[in-house]
Amino acid sequence: MTEHSRAWHRAMRRRRRSKITLIAFTFLLLLICLILLKYTEKMTSSKAIGNTTTRSITARIPDAVKNALQGANSAKHPDLLRKFPYPFKAMLAISSDADMTTLEEFEEYHRFLNTKEQTPYGVGLGLDIGDSTWLYIANDTSEKVDKDGHSVEYSMSYFQGVDPKKLKDSKKIVHYFKIGWIDSLHTFGDFSRNDHSIKFTRGLAVAAWNAMNQSGFKPEIWINHGTETNAQNFGVYNSHTLFKYQQGDNPKSPYYHTDLTLKNGIRYVWNSIGGNQFSYDDPLFPIHLRDGQNVWGFYRYTNELNKGKIDWTWETQFISRQITKTRLDQLVHEGKYSVVTQHLGKGSNGFPFTKEGIQTLHLLKTYNDEGKILVARTTRLLDYARSDKYVHYSVVQLDGKTYININSIDDPVLGSSVPSIDDIRGLTFYVNDPSNTCLLLNLNPISGDEIQYNSQDGNGKKSVEIKWYTPDYTDYTKAA
Ligand SMILES: [Zn+2]
Repeated sequence: MTEHSRAWHRAMRRRRRSKITLIAFTFLLLLICLILLKYTEKMTSSKAIGNTTTRSITARIPDAVKNALQGANSAKHPDLLRKFPYPFKAMLAISSDADMTTLEEFEEYHRFLNTKEQTPYGVGLGLDIGDSTWLYIANDTSEKVDKDGHSVEYSMSYFQGVDPKKLKDSKKIVHYFKIGWIDSLHTFGDFSRNDHSIKFTRGLAVAAWNAMNQSGFKPEIWINHGTETNAQNFGVYNSHTLFKYQQGDNPKSPYYHTDLTLKNGIRYVWNSIGGNQFSYDDPLFPIHLRDGQNVWGFYRYTNELNKGKIDWTWETQFISRQITKTRLDQLVHEGKYSVVTQHLGKGSNGFPFTKEGIQTLHLLKTYNDEGKILVARTTRLLDYARSDKYVHYSVVQLDGKTYININSIDDPVLGSSVPSIDDIRGLTFYVNDPSNTCLLLNLNPISGDEIQYNSQDGNGKKSVEIKWYTPDYTDYTKAA
């Protein structure tokens, strides 16, 4: 090899090395840029959502702050809480009883109510509306449940008839529970019977809870159902009234089950007492059961009163009598809760709403979309009401920053507990400088992604809140 060619080879090697170095350097630079970008995004970006912004706050809490918070008084005092999540002024739920609902009907009307899909009845409303279901069907009616003429045992239920060994719609029920279209139990089943026999047993309750614990289908809400053959009902037993048939909470009865039922997660009970009052300042009231346990009762609007007589409006053809512009305006004005009772799937003519009914639902959607009335499934409404009323927190100011630590939900009925993030969603604190406020749960900083900073509301006050649930318009009939 000549000197010339050796020099040429050396030069080539150098060029190759410097080329590799250049590639490595560029790659490193790119990596650093990417990391920096991610970091700045996390630290400084703020995303405008209407009148609110979300941004991350550094998650380090100095020991001095922790000590100050631990030393501070934990109470609902000073009372900084806005009554409803910003910007809403009221909350409304539609609470639906599962009577004579088939799975096909359920899917059709929830697709319209909950998604924004194109449906035969127009674009879906995208509202957060839950429903109830049951596990057994023992009704002996000859009424048909749908437009195809199916009889009552075709109703949506976890098991076939009263046989806990035969699954019917269990898979779909668990699915719709997990995604939130079902949030209530209309007792264990439809035990209304014309022959006056009682088909419910404690054994059925035991089998039900075994299956529910296995599948994770565990609603928080219990809604009593039907006639005096529904011995499983409980909450308003009185030996002198028609409610003397209620045996679910009587430890001496063969129909006793509230030991299992409350242990398994039922928090809220509709005790069979309806009413014509549309709105409540507080939708919850305590119920003391005959077995010594306590549970929350909740109020539902179920009927009108006509010359002292009950005029039931809780079926779909009457929804325009239940929900009117006057009532919605009043609800906003008063700043209250409303739980409107329905039987969304009870009719047997297919899609449950008339043209007028659809207009009413669109009206309700307007109030929701304009930030006036937060339409929420019943569990969310009741969980919010409970947390808003019984949340205990500490507030300290340190180095120009406000720290609010949520310690517990001091629930006088269900007991005191440290809440989950979902338990406190929507809680909104009035503060002078929202962006300079740090929210903590049990002394752990709440992630910036979960916090919403609000500008002044109608009261001229700024606030900071734990974000309400993100709207979910997914068509879960497809995802099923
Ligand atoms: Zn019912």
